Amino acid sequence: MQPGPARIVIVGAGHAGGAAAANLRQYGWRGSITLIGEEPLPPYQRPPLSKAWLKREADADSLLLRPAAFYAASDIFLRLEQRAAGIDRQARTVLLASGETAEYDRLILALGAVARPLDVAGAGLRNVLSLRSAADADRLQAALHPGVRLAVIGGGYIGLEVAASARALGAEAVVIEREARLLARVASPLLSDFFRRQHAARGVGLELGAAVEALEGTEVEAPGGAGVEAPEGAGGAVTGVRLRDGRRIACDVVLVGVGALPNDALARAAGLACDNGIMVDAASRSSDPAIYAIGDCTRRPLPLYGCSVRLESVPNALEMAKQAAADLCGRKPPPPEVPWFWSDQYELRLQIAGLPIDAVQTAVRGDPDGGSFAVFHLAADDTVQAVEAVNAPAEFMAGKLMIARRRRVSPDALRDKARALQQLAA
Ligand code: FAD
Repeated sequence: MQPGPARIVIVGAGHAGGAAAANLRQYGWRGSITLIGEEPLPPYQRPPLSKAWLKREADADSLLLRPAAFYAASDIFLRLEQRAAGIDRQARTVLLASGETAEYDRLILALGAVARPLDVAGAGLRNVLSLRSAADADRLQAALHPGVRLAVIGGGYIGLEVAASARALGAEAVVIEREARLLARVASPLLSDFFRRQHAARGVGLELGAAVEALEGTEVEAPGGAGVEAPEGAGGAVTGVRLRDGRRIACDVVLVGVGALPNDALARAAGLACDNGIMVDAASRSSDPAIYAIGDCTRRPLPLYGCSVRLESVPNALEMAKQAAADLCGRKPPPPEVPWFWSDQYELRLQIAGLPIDAVQTAVRGDPDGGSFAVFHLAADDTVQAVEAVNAPAEFMAGKLMIARRRRVSPDALRDKARALQQLAA
């Protein structure tokens, strides 16, 4: 569709939705753009919510993707605190929870993800929190003070970042992880072990291979006078985590960080093809030619790896926003990017590029004990598939280039600090 007077509606005013609106104008879209979001804030960045924002080191303006005035100045109609409740694909309208409708010629779904709920008794107790939105971060921040005991359930990125931020705020922190190692789904064993040692050295308690049986709360007075445990939602506050092995970890606050689920219910109800996310093609088009989907809510093809995956990262949200906007404006699609991700914990910056889908060997460059190193993941024919770099930006950049260029590099050359990485990537 050429830029013209057609109407685009974007549902979800997060990282992907906000970027798509801006890209559309940048690429010359002349029709109307309506950006609908259920949160009260204009599009903002979520990464600081577990890092600088949580530690009270960032101000509200720095969270925003673009200044609030940008949208009106760019003729983007921003409708905040509006939840989309349904899509009528025949009538090409989005039904809002307020009862209003928004008509579209092209629709972009940028619905993000939702925190996976913890399915155990006591999950509804007061001070059992999750972290997805700025409002969630404010609740968590208000609960974290010197001496407060935080139990983090889930040793993934968000859980570990929150544990690090909690320590910076003077709180006690213990991370409870069901798997035998931290970051089990997303990082190599070497990296898991590195972060385990870093957190332990900063006083974070670590319970690995520990299954949560229940969350326990303050007792409330039963009508008969006897103290009973507070039922869910009754206002009792969490006081401990009961593990399946019978042990109890006392705490004042629980952060549930057990992953996220694609927010694809709206798309499923509208009959779009979904399978762990809204299925899209290389231009971010869904199974309905009038509807695009971008960001965390999608499952997208990864041409570099010949598969389709659901990614949860800012670079992915930005790349897909560009794909959809380019396609809508009749432009050439942007070249496929190497997926990448970062995480900040203490003074450690982890950067990961690529996915070790067919990797069978690793090469470590640098010294984990020195705090700066990279783990390269290679396929059987030495093609570089992924790199995990800690405080090693040059290794990250070179590794990303090698992946994009499908370079075959010998593991010994990667290990040898005397060999210039740029040359190996060339
Ligand atoms: P979101 O940014 O979540 O936006 C989706 C928006 O849609 C939300 O505002 C939601 O309220 C709205 N919405 C949903 N349904 C409706 C509806 N029916 N009607 C109206 N609005 C609706 N990524 C990194 O790369 N590096 C990091 O260090 C990193 N740290 C993170 C830390 C935290 C605490 C979190 C939560 C995420 C982090 N991420 C990080 C992931 C990154 O923030 C996401 O991948 C990115 O925000 C995805 O953008 P999105 O637009 O797809 O989803």
